[in-house]
Amino acid sequence: MRFDILTIFPGLLESPLQEGIIRRALAAEQVRIEIHNIRDYALDKHAMTDDRPFGGGEGMVMKPEPLAAAVADVRRQAPGGRVILLSPQGRPYNQAVAEELAQLDHLVLVCGRYEGVDERFIAKYVDEEISIGDYILTGGELAAMVMVDSITRLLPGVLGCADSADFDTFSRGGLKYPQYTRPRVFEDMAAPEVLFSGDHGAVAVWRLLAEIEQTMTKRPELVPRMRFSAGELKILKKQGLLAKLREAGWQDLPAEH
Ligand code: SAM
Repeated sequence: MRFDILTIFPGLLESPLQEGIIRRALAAEQVRIEIHNIRDYALDKHAMTDDRPFGGGEGMVMKPEPLAAAVADVRRQAPGGRVILLSPQGRPYNQAVAEELAQLDHLVLVCGRYEGVDERFIAKYVDEEISIGDYILTGGELAAMVMVDSITRLLPGVLGCADSADFDTFSRGGLKYPQYTRPRVFEDMAAPEVLFSGDHGAVAVWRLLAEIEQTMTKRPELVPRMRFSAGELKILKKQGLLAKLREAGWQDLPAEH
């Protein structure tokens, strides 16, 4: 997967790429990330990338020509990427969108600043706008990093344990079970006994039920889209939980693993 990120603040993107899983994925060439300074594509001698809005009003607007030139240059270097503008007006980003985009091999992420971006650039050069949530950031850089981070960890071989992304929160529609580590007792709270039983089947059942409980308690609106394998459905039936799930709006979607 290749990411090209267009920004007027390249420095903002440096440190997140220098640590942890993303650094390892870069070193192993499982992902390639190119950062482009939009100012390098400005046409005037002051390297202006923004100007006052037509019609008056607050703030500045990013000029279309430097952005267009930057996208054209990226396309020359690597044709065919999907151009995504980070924008609070875009498609809401979530794990399903991350999984969808992780199937592509090239994304061009355009980071807005100020009051936003000239609409004509969006109309001609942007394939899709994506929002990371209903709030306003000062710029698209952190949103771009959210996408890079969440997509990179889904790429084959990037996570240490090959299938660990399959059991993350949201991957199966709901939340993940609670997790515990040493010490066994922390401030009078003991970790659940079943986790020390050595009985993998019993642990799997406990985790399945805990996932349902977590989802019903913390994010009940996710229950309708929870997915279970045939084996899990058998367990849920035995535990008398299917009716409770259906009452909570569960739609019995086909399992994907
Ligand atoms: N004036 C704009 C509006 O009201 O829609 C907001 C502009 S915001 C201050 C500057 C830039 O930050 C945007 O162009 C976009 O690139 C980025 N941005 C802000 N919030 C975002 C969000 N929730 N998701 C993705 N990008 C966002």
